[in-house]
Amino acid sequence: MAESRAVPAVELRNVSKSFGNLKVFDHVSLTVERNEAVVIIGPSGSGKTTLIRCINHLEEIQDGEILVNGTRVSHKVVGGKRAPLSENEKTANRRSVGMVFQRFNLFPHLTALQNIVEAPMHVLKQTRQEATEHALALLQRVGLADKKDQYPAQLSGGQQQRVAIARVLAMKPEIVLFDEPTSALDPEMVGEVLAVMKELAGNGITMIVVTHEMGFAREVADRVIVMDKGVIIEEGSPDQIFSQSKNARTVSFLKRVA
Ligand code: ADP
Repeated sequence: MAESRAVPAVELRNVSKSFGNLKVFDHVSLTVERNEAVVIIGPSGSGKTTLIRCINHLEEIQDGEILVNGTRVSHKVVGGKRAPLSENEKTANRRSVGMVFQRFNLFPHLTALQNIVEAPMHVLKQTRQEATEHALALLQRVGLADKKDQYPAQLSGGQQQRVAIARVLAMKPEIVLFDEPTSALDPEMVGEVLAVMKELAGNGITMIVVTHEMGFAREVADRVIVMDKGVIIEEGSPDQIFSQSKNARTVSFLKRVA
């Protein structure tokens, strides 16, 4: 009997992406299993952010395909030709894939709680009571239950980012993408955000994290991907990448960020 394998959470198959004449990556393939925490590291400009933005339709790809939970989300074939997804299809995919950005982008005129309940009410059609109960539980989870009525301007950067994470979780995503979530923070606030992310990883949420926080990668990643100049040059366990890599480009990058 054939062994039945779980459908991966995310699959990139030979994906190519350019901005005009600039080829960011060419034929990149990557599989992320369900419940896996994958951390992508590498020099600036190597295409890490663009790669995860493609998974969430923030960037169109030129070639290859992207599957989320086994469903193609990049293009569909109509009459033998590749056609872009409709806005509705993109929205459906974005719902299962949440994204945390470097800049938290909270609505400034809404409190922490209001920021979190908006989308579940309007997109998931939850009642205000349902959305509020869930939001309060999420604020508790990110350690901000006492800040529910504060406006973003009254919160520190680290607290705003934790609200932003709670807001993403409120949409019950199966996969969360993190795009350098701590790089806009003062150093003393980095730890509190990483601690929330570590808790999420420990509870099995599928996550793909672009970060310069090597300590986090080493401690939390199930798998570390090293990108350089648009190519995945190496991948492996944190120990394989951080302690045993024989790849000259990986070793040189790690030396520079150490
Ligand atoms: P990384 O996350 O590894 O720092 P990025 O994915 O941000 O790398 O960028 C990869 C390359 O694509 C860089 O050369 C960058 O300048 C370029 N790039 C990123 N976004 C855009 C854009 N919207 N338009 C044009 N070029 C872009």
